[in-house]
Amino acid sequence: MARIVKKFGGTSVADMERIRAVAARVKKAVDQGDQVVVVVSAMSGVTNQLVGYVTEASSLYDAREYDAVVASGEQVTAGLTAITLQEMGVDARSWLGWQVPVHTTDAHGSARIEEIDTKLLEERLNIGQVAVIAGFQGIGPDNRITTLGRGGSDTTAVAFAAALKADRCDIYTDVDGVYTTDPRIVTSAAKLDAITYEEMLEMASLGAKVLQTRSVELAMRYRVPLQVLTSFEDLPGTMVVDEEDIVEQAEISGIAYSSDEAKITVEQVADRPGVSAAIFGPLADANINVDMIVQNVGAADNTTDVTFTVPRADMERSVAVIEGLADELKYKSVASNDKVVKVSVIGVGMRSHAGIAAKMFATLAEKGINIQVISTSEIKVSVLIADEYTELALRALHTAYQLDAA
Ligand code: ADP
Ligand code: ASP
Ligand code: MG
Repeated sequence: MARIVKKFGGTSVADMERIRAVAARVKKAVDQGDQVVVVVSAMSGVTNQLVGYVTEASSLYDAREYDAVVASGEQVTAGLTAITLQEMGVDARSWLGWQVPVHTTDAHGSARIEEIDTKLLEERLNIGQVAVIAGFQGIGPDNRITTLGRGGSDTTAVAFAAALKADRCDIYTDVDGVYTTDPRIVTSAAKLDAITYEEMLEMASLGAKVLQTRSVELAMRYRVPLQVLTSFEDLPGTMVVDEEDIVEQAEISGIAYSSDEAKITVEQVADRPGVSAAIFGPLADANINVDMIVQNVGAADNTTDVTFTVPRADMERSVAVIEGLADELKYKSVASNDKVVKVSVIGVGMRSHAGIAAKMFATLAEKGINIQVISTSEIKVSVLIADEYTELALRALHTAYQLDAA
């Protein structure tokens, strides 16, 4: 007997036919003697629609009420999945975040799970009942519903797997695993049999939305055996594993891209000690997350250009912060651009292979793509380029690193 958490994303519970397919899959595991915890997302498209209603009601909405609205999609699918299981003769019960309870921080709209009380669930699992958990939601210290940020059902699933010491956490989605890059953009993308926690964490945080970043962090911290697979067929998926478990390490495992970037340049600012602190301190105080940074070599007039990236949604706020520093910094001008994309190549193989970054730059140069900003870490290289080149860059890099599916 194994204890397994199975999470079904929006396309896997998109309508009653899909929900019946989910229930049949769960029943099969129950009939084999497994203890099953099901985590469901809202039907695909529903969360976007709910967010749309909220922003239509008010552009400066109350985040607690946003959560009250957007958490409702998962309530519907949890109830329907439990009913469908019951209809098939499987003992099942739905659970909303507050009923478990899933305790979270009070950051409405992007709360973090702090603790899951598993006592009641354990009792039910031990009598053979299937628990169907509404993903994406919890309860905050203010006793109100919270949500975990978009894509948060993945995190619900991994957190339950960790808290219940499950033997595995299966994430069912609309692709049959983790690919070398987004298979919807690069048709020659190849499915990976396995990827390390570290690489998956970089892939997710650099833009691959197949798993929410936070879910990979939790899986890595609690060593949750994680599998990404399709709910549309019976196929093995991609296992997220420890580095030691990967036999042959390619130089690059994957390529990710993120359109959630905007570039800001402070032009001709004095090249003297303290300038960076004067720019980035106030941005941090405004809770703006600066990602990539580059400072050009000082010109003869002792000024320099400082370029950095921020989340696209924070671009205007960032420009306002810099404009507020005009008297102090005496720069010439501030420019902003959101027609950019961050493309990253990722792989633990980088630790042992030289020339990965050079190959990236040469490949982009060959295609005439200008690199605006670069940042690196031990297992990734990221570049910022004009967003019109996204597909061209992904395809060229995919071929250059020999990732194309045979
Ligand atoms: P779900 O609703 O099941 O949570 P998501 O839409 O959140 O599904 O995640 C699955 C999608 O992630 C895929 O349809 C695919 O377009 C996208 N994706 C991006 N990068 C990758 C990648 N490297 N491997 C697989 N899928 C990826
Ligand atoms: N339904 C939520 C969303 O669309 C959570 C999830 O699907 O993971 O973001
Ligand atoms: Mg998702």
